[in-house]
Amino acid sequence: MRRFFVCFKKICYLCINYYYANRMTNEMNTKADPTQRTMRPQELHREQQGLPNDNSDVMMQQQTLQAKSKTCPFCGAENDAEYMFCAQCGQPIGKAACPHCGADMDPDADFCEICHHYIKKDVCSYCGAALTGNEAYCPECGSPRGGLVCPTCHTLNDFAFCKKCGTALTEEAKALVKELQLNPDYQELVDTVQEYSKLENALPYNSERDIIREQKNNKLRERILTLLAQDEGIEKPVISAPEQKRMTKDELEEKKAEKIRVLSAILDKLAVPPSASPAKARNYAMASKPVGVRLAWVCNFKHALHSSPCGCAKPQMGGKWVILGKTGGDIKDDK
Ligand SMILES: [Zn+2]
Ligand SMILES: [Zn+2]
Ligand SMILES: [Zn+2]
Ligand SMILES: [Zn+2]
Ligand SMILES: [Zn+2]
Repeated sequence: MRRFFVCFKKICYLCINYYYANRMTNEMNTKADPTQRTMRPQELHREQQGLPNDNSDVMMQQQTLQAKSKTCPFCGAENDAEYMFCAQCGQPIGKAACPHCGADMDPDADFCEICHHYIKKDVCSYCGAALTGNEAYCPECGSPRGGLVCPTCHTLNDFAFCKKCGTALTEEAKALVKELQLNPDYQELVDTVQEYSKLENALPYNSERDIIREQKNNKLRERILTLLAQDEGIEKPVISAPEQKRMTKDELEEKKAEKIRVLSAILDKLAVPPSASPAKARNYAMASKPVGVRLAWVCNFKHALHSSPCGCAKPQMGGKWVILGKTGGDIKDDK
C-alpha cells in the first residue's frame, strides 16, 4: 500500500492522484467495511498532521469559500457573505430574523409585519432616540418602553400615535399635529375632506318624481316664508333659495370624483419623503392624516396598503395616504 508518504501542500498532486486511483477500491471498501475504507486526500493530510478528521468541518469550509461574496442588488458591489449592509452603498443586503417569531426581515426594519412586534431594543419607537436597551422609560421623550394606552380607544400602542384611532399619544406627537395644522396644504386637505364628507351625506334625486316633489316643496316653503314675513309687516320679502341644492345621482358622483382628484393631489404633496428615522417618518405620516375619509397608507417599501404606517416594517422609505374606494382595497395589516 502506498498510504504512508508525506504531503507538504494542502492538497498535493500525489494525494489527488492517490485519491482518484483508489476511488473504486474506496467505494468497495466502504460498502464492505466502513472502518477499513481508504481516506480522502484532506482526511489523509489531517491525519498526518495529527488533526482530528471531521468531514462536516471540511465541507463547511468549502461551502463558506463558495458563498464568500454577495452581489449588492442596489449598486452591484461585491460584499462579504455575512454583511447585512452593502459596504459601498449602505443598502440592506442581508436578512435578519425577527426575535419574536423568527420571520425573515430586512436588517433595517424595526417592526415585524408577521407578528406585529416592534423589534429594535436600542431605538425608541416613539421618538427614534438611541437607547441602551435597559431603560423602562425613554430618556428623550419619557415614553414607557412597554407601550402606551390610547386614552380615546384604549388600544396598546408601540408608536407615538394610536394605530387605531390616530390620537397623538406623546408630547412630541401633539406638537407635530399643531405644527402641521399651520401648513396651508394641510388646511386645504382638511377643508376638502369636509366638502367631500358633505357630498357623501347628500341625497341625490332618484327619479323625475323626486324632482317635481322637491320643486313643490320649495314653492310651499317660499309661500309660507312670504306669509310669515307679511305678518311681520314686510310687504315684499326676499326669500332666499333653500341652502342645499339637490343634484341628480350622476351630478353628485361627478362632484365626488372631482373632490377625490383634489384630495389625491394634496395627499401627494403631503407624501412622506424617505428619511433616516423610521419613528420620524411614522410620526409625520400619522400627524398628516385627515379625519372624515377612509384612507390607507401605501409604503415605498413593498407598495403595500397598510391601515397606517404603524403596520409597516420600513416607513423610513417613505409613502403616502391614499383614498379608499367603496370596495376598500386589500389592506395588509388590518386585524
Ligand atoms: Zn451596494
Ligand atoms: Zn415577528
Ligand atoms: Zn423616545
Ligand atoms: Zn386610539
Ligand atoms: Zn410597508
